[in-house]
Amino acid sequence: GINGILQPLESTISDAERFKLSKHLYLNCKCGSHFKFGGIVSSNDYQMTFNGIQCKKCMNQLNTLNVTSQLEQRIRSFISKYYQGIVICDDSTCGMITKQISVYGKRCLSNGCKGVMRYQYSDKELYNQLLYFDSLFDVEKNKNQSLRPLYESEDVTKPQELIKGQIDALSEQNRDNFNVCKSIVQKYLSDCGRRYVDLGSMFDFMQK
Ligand SMILES: [Zn+2]
Ligand SMILES: [Zn+2]
Repeated sequence: GINGILQPLESTISDAERFKLSKHLYLNCKCGSHFKFGGIVSSNDYQMTFNGIQCKKCMNQLNTLNVTSQLEQRIRSFISKYYQGIVICDDSTCGMITKQISVYGKRCLSNGCKGVMRYQYSDKELYNQLLYFDSLFDVEKNKNQSLRPLYESEDVTKPQELIKGQIDALSEQNRDNFNVCKSIVQKYLSDCGRRYVDLGSMFDFMQK
């Protein structure tokens, strides 16, 4: 039912756990540097300044318009992946793959297979991916340092963490820029969320 689907998203699990399978937000700089953006955190590739994101390789400042257009491009690539509607059999020994959307949640079409066809890229994954991007530009989450970490704890290249006072100041100074980025994500998130909830209620109905 819908509760079973939504609960993990709304519970108190950490962002590190919730978004561990989400794809990173990569940003390109004009110098050719291609790096993961993880919010107001320390990175070997970029640093936050009072005027936004700065590439550490060439010291170029990425303006908000540049960031929002890259963000939107990335979101659209996930949405088109979702709309490809590829469904695969959950029986790993079968490997049945098709583009038939109508078979969602149905038995595999392969002769004698007991598997169930599922979306390769589900509503839930897309929704979670958008929530991850949303979190990166969430001023409160940045301030609370509750974001998914950019580096694994055992990563030896992991740079020294920023200090709390620095994060607070950078969060406030970037509030307007971040809100512009967040509104881009929100635009897609509300569409996706509506469809996601619709789908959940549809299954709830079917199970009665
Ligand atoms: Zn650069
Ligand atoms: Zn199958």
